[in-house]
Amino acid sequence: MKTDSLRAGKLAAVLVAGVLTLTACGGGSDDDTEAATVDSKATFEAGTTMATLQKAGKITIGTKFDQPGFGLKGLSGAPEGFDVEIGKLIAAGLGIGEDGISWVETPSAVRENVIEDGDVNLVAATYTINDERKKRISFAGPYYVAGQQLMVRSDNSAITGPESLKSNPDAKVCSAAGSTPADNIGTYLASPGQLVTFDLYSKCADALKNKQVDAVTTDNVILLGLVGKSDGAFKVVGEPFTEEPYGIGIKKGDTAFCQYIVDTLKKASEDGAYEKAWSSTAGEVEGSRVPTLPTADACS
Ligand code: GLU
Repeated sequence: MKTDSLRAGKLAAVLVAGVLTLTACGGGSDDDTEAATVDSKATFEAGTTMATLQKAGKITIGTKFDQPGFGLKGLSGAPEGFDVEIGKLIAAGLGIGEDGISWVETPSAVRENVIEDGDVNLVAATYTINDERKKRISFAGPYYVAGQQLMVRSDNSAITGPESLKSNPDAKVCSAAGSTPADNIGTYLASPGQLVTFDLYSKCADALKNKQVDAVTTDNVILLGLVGKSDGAFKVVGEPFTEEPYGIGIKKGDTAFCQYIVDTLKKASEDGAYEKAWSSTAGEVEGSRVPTLPTADACS
């Protein structure tokens, strides 16, 4: 499996009920728990994205490299997590095994760009479906629904949820640039200066540890993964206050590819591969429950 990183100049369930306590984080997928079975017999109409990828025998997938449970690049050099497993399922249905997948790190703010520019064939990266993004790309899904929450240092009793930010105007909250949580948190702030953004959530976690910020906000499942890796230093507080339906980002208007992804995920939910993808990754979080695949939106 190959890995790439983005060119530097490129940038500028509601949590499924039950994934509420994370006391130990796994997040890695073991080779013996592989969910995807490569389909070497699939046939696709000539000229479609599916036929092109199948013929090439390779695919480039954008995902996160620093989000335990969803997309985390480990010592093996290959990313691991639920999004990674979903990407492998999509590739497998095209007859492409793990060796044919190139993984590209796609921080929140570059996702539309890399799809538009054709640097990746798809993005599976805790990517919330919304109308603003749909102006530039299309989504297949949702395949999971998260919700935004806050994470603080374990000894912090002043911040108990987003409402605490106005009453603690000196508190700083960190999120990723170009993410929906960075937008959503705006209404809860005493002033815009309370928000600090980095390209990656791992940098927010470092800033929280170093006391440069007092809270981190993003999707609950991302925060739970970071809590699990924090050795007890962090905790998630308050209830989820948004809905973040995760979709697979693809080129705008590629409805046939969208439909292929929707059908592939539906099949995976029926034959147990979706469940396996979850349980070998984000599902290793203690107390988590396997999500049910949400009904997909119409492809457009
Ligand atoms: N799901 C949210 C988003 O797409 C937050 C997670 C992320 O930044 O990847 O913006």
